Amino acid sequence: MRYAEVAVNCPLRRPRTFTYTIPPGARLKPGCAVWIPFGPRVIQGVVFGLTDQSEIEETRSIAEVIDPEPLLAPYQLELASWISENYLSPLFDAVALMLPPGFEQRVLTFFQPAPEISEDVLSGLPPEQRRVLRLLLKHGRMELRRIKRKVGRAESYLVQLSRRGLVLRSQELERPRVGPRLVPYLSPALSAEQISPEVERLRKRRAFKQAELLQLLLAEGRLEASEARRKLEVSASAVKALERKGLIRVERLRVHRDPLAHLALIPTAPLELTSDQERAWLPLKEAIHRGEGDVFLLHGVTGSGKTELYLRALAETISRGRRAIVLVPEIALTPQTISRFASRFPQRVAVLHSRLSPGEQFDEWHRIRSGEFDVVIGPRSAIFAPQPNLGLIVIDEEHEWTYKQQESSPRYHAREVALKLAELTGSLVILGSATPDVESYYRARRGRYKLLELPRRVAVPQLGLQPRLPKVEIVDMRRELKEGNRSIFSRSLLRELRETLEAGEQAILFLNRRGTATFVQCRDCGYVLRCPRCEVTLTYHAVEGELLCHQCNYRTSPPSVCPRCWSRRIKFLGLGTQRLEEEVRRTFPGAQVLRWDRDVTRGKHSHEQILSRFQNHEADILIGTQMIAKGLDIPLVTLVGVVSADVGLHLPYFRAAERTFQLLSQVAGRAGRGKWGGRVIIQTYTPEHYAVQAAARQSFEAFYKQESEFRRRYHNPPFTRLVRLTFSHTNQVRCRQEAERMARFLREERDSHGPSDLDVLGPAPAYIPRIRGHWRWHIILRGSDPRAFLSELSLPPEWVVDVDPVEV
Ligand code: ADP
Ligand code: ZN
Ligand code: ZN
Repeated sequence: MRYAEVAVNCPLRRPRTFTYTIPPGARLKPGCAVWIPFGPRVIQGVVFGLTDQSEIEETRSIAEVIDPEPLLAPYQLELASWISENYLSPLFDAVALMLPPGFEQRVLTFFQPAPEISEDVLSGLPPEQRRVLRLLLKHGRMELRRIKRKVGRAESYLVQLSRRGLVLRSQELERPRVGPRLVPYLSPALSAEQISPEVERLRKRRAFKQAELLQLLLAEGRLEASEARRKLEVSASAVKALERKGLIRVERLRVHRDPLAHLALIPTAPLELTSDQERAWLPLKEAIHRGEGDVFLLHGVTGSGKTELYLRALAETISRGRRAIVLVPEIALTPQTISRFASRFPQRVAVLHSRLSPGEQFDEWHRIRSGEFDVVIGPRSAIFAPQPNLGLIVIDEEHEWTYKQQESSPRYHAREVALKLAELTGSLVILGSATPDVESYYRARRGRYKLLELPRRVAVPQLGLQPRLPKVEIVDMRRELKEGNRSIFSRSLLRELRETLEAGEQAILFLNRRGTATFVQCRDCGYVLRCPRCEVTLTYHAVEGELLCHQCNYRTSPPSVCPRCWSRRIKFLGLGTQRLEEEVRRTFPGAQVLRWDRDVTRGKHSHEQILSRFQNHEADILIGTQMIAKGLDIPLVTLVGVVSADVGLHLPYFRAAERTFQLLSQVAGRAGRGKWGGRVIIQTYTPEHYAVQAAARQSFEAFYKQESEFRRRYHNPPFTRLVRLTFSHTNQVRCRQEAERMARFLREERDSHGPSDLDVLGPAPAYIPRIRGHWRWHIILRGSDPRAFLSELSLPPEWVVDVDPVEV
């Protein structure tokens, strides 16, 4: 083969490759990473195919093969092509999802002195050049950055020196920035008989520490250097001295960073399935044995035993010699779920986690690729884990929006990627949820997925597990107001809270808004304080004493006078979790209160700390945002109060109702998981809304019926597909003009040859019209296949394309 088809690291919105000549003698396979010249630069690329012919007359040659072993398997190359096509993203962006962490490398420049430079030549140089050359003569070959650290402005002197032929320049690739972690270990270098007299000799020479260390190593064999030094308080120089004398050996050994290390895991055995579970298990088991890669939607109410079924399917898959990937919405929020997986398969589970250090990610990636783990758990990006011999993909809480990558290209949905990956690898897929995505449920009803239902909670009276779902009460806050209750708590919620505390049980209060006051307004002129960079109202956080932009994290101190009319009558309005916490503490001074939101969870394990404190009943009331909606299973929680169900209900997204229904159902599902049963109180100003009603009845079917009706009527997914095009610019007028130009262009294209069922909606300002100083306008394409229409056009690269957006 003489030519390679290479995906290049350059933003091209097409799944295309470029042809390069293979340098003589180079060994290449598809999936290999290479350096290639591209325009004036040298950039990374990944080989997609090898051919004997080139359609192009003149091809450039591959500059360097980074690794002759393929980094990507053939199925991964196919998956990358699919992602690039389906999400209209550059091919290399799709490839990059699957490369090992820390893979991006840089080109480094080195200088070394020319051979045989005489003192005469040196003394004839200007002083700065002489200094640089002396440095190189002393150290030999040096990297440019290192030279610059020693001599300021070294670059210009090096240019002059190299013109005179006194230094030689060369380039090299930086090694991947993260590598395995190597830790120094100490061990005796000689046998015990040889060492014992040495210990005596050291004592005689009063080198007591050295003698002690030598003795310890004789006893222990091998010891981590830091541990040895801690134990004996010996200095580094003592260690060095022993090494110099040839008495001990210092080796750098590779250690694995284990992200589960801080969790105390007790191995668990599989549970005997309930009859509901057994009914769902049979078709799953059969499908695993067939090994043809079916897709199942497991719809089961909260606490119905879905996780136990995942575990069963994993065990069955593993016993047949295949491996699995499990996706969870957010690792940090689901420590309970993670530890259930990890304790069922001790030592066989890898957890991928964006909060892992780069080194930990690097370690895990390589161990996964070598087949060390039966199960890989992680957030959406874990779908790209190089799990060999994949047989099962589980997506827990499949309706969660976090499975869609929104911020950067490729804007993929992990569920769709999973379906493609399963097809390429013949893997089984299980999508699980108590509140399936409307689109998923629609697919299941149409037969594309096999539907499994767990309609009841697991009932094991001996274990204190009750089959009943919690009792839900909707409270009309309009009536509370009319009847003179201006508090943020309705009378029902107040009464239930009091009773819960008196009974020594626990309560959760849910409010999906952080901060103290969600907007700050002047009473005299009505002015509302907004972020100077985003068109977003600033939220007051009393704990920090600051006004905060929840969009860009801009912070400022609250003004004492109105910036517009100088009035002093500034009012803090709206309700957030911090204010809720104050109110709870005031109303129930004796109660222990914990708050769980993004403001209190910045540390690495802070989620787990809050959770375990609540679990150990160190607090009576937990206040939280949507973070508390997922996977919490605490038996003593008998009351859940939704302080305001209306947050998010009236957002201009066609999925606003679905999102609200999901959140309310999930939060309600936190109540009554133990033998004491549970109650839920939902406070709202729109008690008649079908999403609130259906959530109160815990009826997904009721919600789905109404919602799918609306979706059909208004031509929204799943009856159509959407693509969102967004343009942003610092100049408001330019932004609008470009958006209008684009909309005109798209309409003309559609009218001349496009599909007739394609709607071009907009342009319109985005819901948040300005972020970090950039105005944003968008256009929505709606139709049976807007993606295909777009793939024929070439859009300017400034336009962000989001296929199947979750937020519009
Ligand atoms: P889900 O994932 O649907 O929320 P879980 O799998 O977490 O449900 O199950 C809810 C509770 O019931 C958990 O405490 C779990 O340990 C328990 N459980 C599940 N299946 C069984 C079973 N077959 N026998 C006994 N307990 C079970
Ligand atoms: Zn004012
Ligand atoms: Zn902002």
